[in-house]
Amino acid sequence: MADIKRLDKTYIAGTYARFPVQLVSGKGSLAWDEDGKEYIDLGSGIAVNGFGISDEVWLKAVTEQLAKLPHASNLYYTEPCARLAEMLCQRTGMKKVFFGNSGAEANECAIKVARKYAAEKHGPDCYTIVTLVNSFHGRTLTTLSATGQDHYHELYQPLTPGFAHIPAGDLDALKALAKGTKIAAVMIECVQGEGGVVPLSEDFVHSLDAFCKANDVLLVVDEVQTGNGRSGQLYAYMNYGIQPDVVSTAKGLGGGLPIGACLMGEKVQDVFGPGDHGSTFGGNPAACAGGVSILSRIDDQLLAGVRERSRYIFDQLTDAEGVESVSGMGLMIGIKPVKPAREVVSRCIENGVLCLTAKDRVRLLPALNIPMEQLEKAVAVLKAALAE
Ligand SMILES: *Cc1c(COP(=O)(O)O)cnc(C)c1O
Repeated sequence: MADIKRLDKTYIAGTYARFPVQLVSGKGSLAWDEDGKEYIDLGSGIAVNGFGISDEVWLKAVTEQLAKLPHASNLYYTEPCARLAEMLCQRTGMKKVFFGNSGAEANECAIKVARKYAAEKHGPDCYTIVTLVNSFHGRTLTTLSATGQDHYHELYQPLTPGFAHIPAGDLDALKALAKGTKIAAVMIECVQGEGGVVPLSEDFVHSLDAFCKANDVLLVVDEVQTGNGRSGQLYAYMNYGIQPDVVSTAKGLGGGLPIGACLMGEKVQDVFGPGDHGSTFGGNPAACAGGVSILSRIDDQLLAGVRERSRYIFDQLTDAEGVESVSGMGLMIGIKPVKPAREVVSRCIENGVLCLTAKDRVRLLPALNIPMEQLEKAVAVLKAALAE
């Protein structure tokens, strides 16, 4: 580890504050470092390994595809990409899919869809996209501009123009903005992930939805982190009973390989024509074969299991010693500890449990199918770290 750590520090751009762990392998919700130390994984590589590390069914689907045709480009038809798009549309009521390779790219596509739709329908001065304070939408310059957190913006001026931010829950702020500005779209995360694992209220989401419908403003839901079973429903917006115009997703969709998808609803399904957008790797057959394997197994039974595990974690941690509050939805949970979150996470790592932080919270994003016995063990370690 000393050697790899030195290489990494020498040659990798200094953008990551890594934990002092070098992972070499994993299976399901267990991971091992280079000394053979075992960890129970409550982070899933940031909500990516939805069925755990190197899940057998996923591995078979991906390796079979890798042997047949790992890449083709979008000049040709390939089966996994078409099948995954059909599955996504059938499960969501959306009409068309554009595949990219990450959450940021899925959101870039969503923003382009919104801009093109609004310009064609309402004129060239209708381009503003409203997002929420504390949101996170990605690291490309445009998705950074969409992100409603100033500290991400400071170093990268000038940003892409045409974004405005309102506080979550504040519909009046949106109405006030709409008086002087033509609004193309509103973009939300139903549960703000990087912002501290904070769900939006039902009231706010419903009134946003009504506002958007009444004003032909597109409702874009960023399901990069909340999607693919994480919230206890296939997509988090389903917990609110709304039908967005655009949905972006990524992280858990590929089960461990890079993929992003932008789902377009009825209103915007024909916005793009040939040449309007593209990606060399987008719709990659291996990544999509993984996606088909993952999505086909996110069924009612799995989702009931997600909700059951969620209840267990909430029951164990709400009012536990050293805990100020617990927030979240499904298996996307934020714990506000009395002491600094990073200290709690470091202690968990020492004691064989991997978890994450988000702002001042400890963040849990375990595999959707983590065995109860492993979850119980890990929560006991976490509780002890919180109470110290
Ligand atoms: C992680 C995340 C992104 C960015 O995804 P990348 O794959 O890192 O580009 C965008 N939106 C949300 C809500 C996320 O959690």
